[in-house]
Amino acid sequence: ELRTPLAAVYGAAQTLLRHDFALDETGRERFVSLIADESERLGRIVNEILLANQLDAGRLDLESEPFDAHDLVERVVEATRMHAPPSVSLEVEASNGLPPVAADADKVRQVMVNLVENAIKYSPDGGHVEVGVEEQDGSIRFHVRDEGLGVAPEDQERIFEKFYRADPQMVRGVGGTGLGLYICKELIDRMGGRIWVEPNGEQGSNFVFDLPTAEVMAHGASARPRLQ
Ligand code: ADP
Repeated sequence: ELRTPLAAVYGAAQTLLRHDFALDETGRERFVSLIADESERLGRIVNEILLANQLDAGRLDLESEPFDAHDLVERVVEATRMHAPPSVSLEVEASNGLPPVAADADKVRQVMVNLVENAIKYSPDGGHVEVGVEEQDGSIRFHVRDEGLGVAPEDQERIFEKFYRADPQMVRGVGGTGLGLYICKELIDRMGGRIWVEPNGEQGSNFVFDLPTAEVMAHGASARPRLQ
């Protein structure tokens, strides 16, 4: 996963160096935007590796501050809509007046972005992605539901393992490191929640995670309903 974008960046830069005089404006632009896109992908992979290492070494400090889950979900969906392919429609399904969540808002945003980007990435033929948030027994429940490739029953737990990919040969041509869901699970676990995947009826999957509300957090573990 690191080598492919690296080779693409190197190849494009070499081509520009060698053939700059022979390329027209469009040709040059193509190589330059390839360098920009692939460098961005490299940056994302390197960040995932660094974050996974920090988590493994127990060197990641998490904040716990009350925040509005509905607002967070709206912002993530808004930002993702700008670069989602036209074949995918994104929609928020949320109840009003939700109690605040107590967790690290930045990390929850990161988990949400990861799940929404996966929902798009694993819907190669397009479809509808629903992002939702609701209250559930002293927890706030988030979900990202897609109509994509779905997750086979035997993979439903394993996809949260480090480097695990359900389709390593990339039969459907979808690339990735297998680190994203591992990071999501580690972060949610450490924030006192849990995360899992279930089928979305006949087509696609539904990724769900629960986090404690600020009130449940404030009254200590004894007042907290058991998260199983
Ligand atoms: P990556 O996408 O980089 O491979 P992840 O850790 O995010 O890594 O996901 C692990 C695996 O879980 C993926 O390789 C894919 O097989 C499966 N997966 C994740 N999200 C979805 C989804 N929304 N629909 C179907 N499969 C998914």
